[in-house]
Amino acid sequence: MTAAVPCYIEAASPHVMNTYARLPIALSHGQGCRVWDVNGKSYLDALGGIAVNTLGHNHPKLVPALQDQIGKLIHTSNYYHVPLQETLAAKLVALSGLENVFFCSTGLEANEAALKLARKFGHDKGIEKPEIVVYEKAFHGRSIATLSATGNPKVQAGFGPLVEGFIRVPLNNIEALKAATTGNPNVVAVFFEAIQGEGGVNSMTDEYLQQARKLCDERDWLLMIDEVQCGMGRTGKWFAHQWAGIKPDVMPLAKGLGSGVPVGAVVAGPKAAHIFGPGNHGTTFGGNPLAMRAGVETIRIMEEDGLLANAVKVGDHLRAALARELAGVEGFQEIRGRGLMLGVELSKPCGELVKRAADNGLLISVTADTVIRLVPSLIMTTAEADEIVAILCPLIKLLLKENA
Ligand SMILES: *Cc1c(COP(=O)(O)O)cnc(C)c1O
Repeated sequence: MTAAVPCYIEAASPHVMNTYARLPIALSHGQGCRVWDVNGKSYLDALGGIAVNTLGHNHPKLVPALQDQIGKLIHTSNYYHVPLQETLAAKLVALSGLENVFFCSTGLEANEAALKLARKFGHDKGIEKPEIVVYEKAFHGRSIATLSATGNPKVQAGFGPLVEGFIRVPLNNIEALKAATTGNPNVVAVFFEAIQGEGGVNSMTDEYLQQARKLCDERDWLLMIDEVQCGMGRTGKWFAHQWAGIKPDVMPLAKGLGSGVPVGAVVAGPKAAHIFGPGNHGTTFGGNPLAMRAGVETIRIMEEDGLLANAVKVGDHLRAALARELAGVEGFQEIRGRGLMLGVELSKPCGELVKRAADNGLLISVTADTVIRLVPSLIMTTAEADEIVAILCPLIKLLLKENA
């Protein structure tokens, strides 16, 4: 490992509201899985803008397509047909096996739409106070409703009263789900991430997904799977729930869908596709031509370049290399996740690693205090994965030895 060069910029951002504990880094440009800061220091990007930059930075096929679109139309409003909405919707329907799509711009908006769908699904059946099952450690966004659905007291603190109508259950326990809903006629939906991202890269098992699907069918509930982070090819299937061979009724998407251009979507199956009519829901920016072009081109390039297979190949390689390097290390717990959505759990808080990795030229994040999260672009190579391991593992070992 070469010597660490501390990253540092003097200028803070006094006029930007202080909502993130930012590193002292300002990035200026990128190429593929590498980015450079304003001081010229380079970093390998294992965060991908938090699972957003599906195609890395400055992708040679994406950039000209977006430039072409910007020269035609960026935005028109939803008062008119936007043909690219139909193009992207048809594609998402084909990839998911569901029926139709609502477009928005972010993950929380997609989840907010899903929650509204579930409530109206209930009201249409005569349920006046619909309730939605949500999960421990879940993260669904930071609007008032989605933070209420989120299972993290830190996200909720200071923003009460929370939205009512949620029932919280533990992950991967079908008996707990049944017990929490027994005799409750107001339940309308079950809502979870196929793999929790912010909660620490916790997967729903294939078995649980199948059991939840079956229960939702028996009870006439909507199965709503938040694929905002784990979807769009990251695990090696288009959507993470597809590993279990099931289909949800409602699937919010965002993060990776537009390769960095804000695009959110709610994909609905037959049970949910016709709940909303004109006037029930909307958003000014949702489905604008630039966003739609970004989604269409992202998927086209992913297909052309075989990026689902690459996510599996490079993800498996990365996971195996990390496991080899960390085997037997005191304080290393386990590696979780699938494809290029990996979490490395340690036995102690490791937020400090984010800065140390950056000093050593690697961008990562830590979630749930003790989990290193790796969600790089799906174009990553095995050589770059090896570089992650070479930089990260010595830092992990060092941290685990301190005050041990
Ligand atoms: C990031 C995330 C969201 C929120 O998305 P925003 O675009 O930040 O609103 C919702 N659900 C999951 C699973 C996420 O990872």
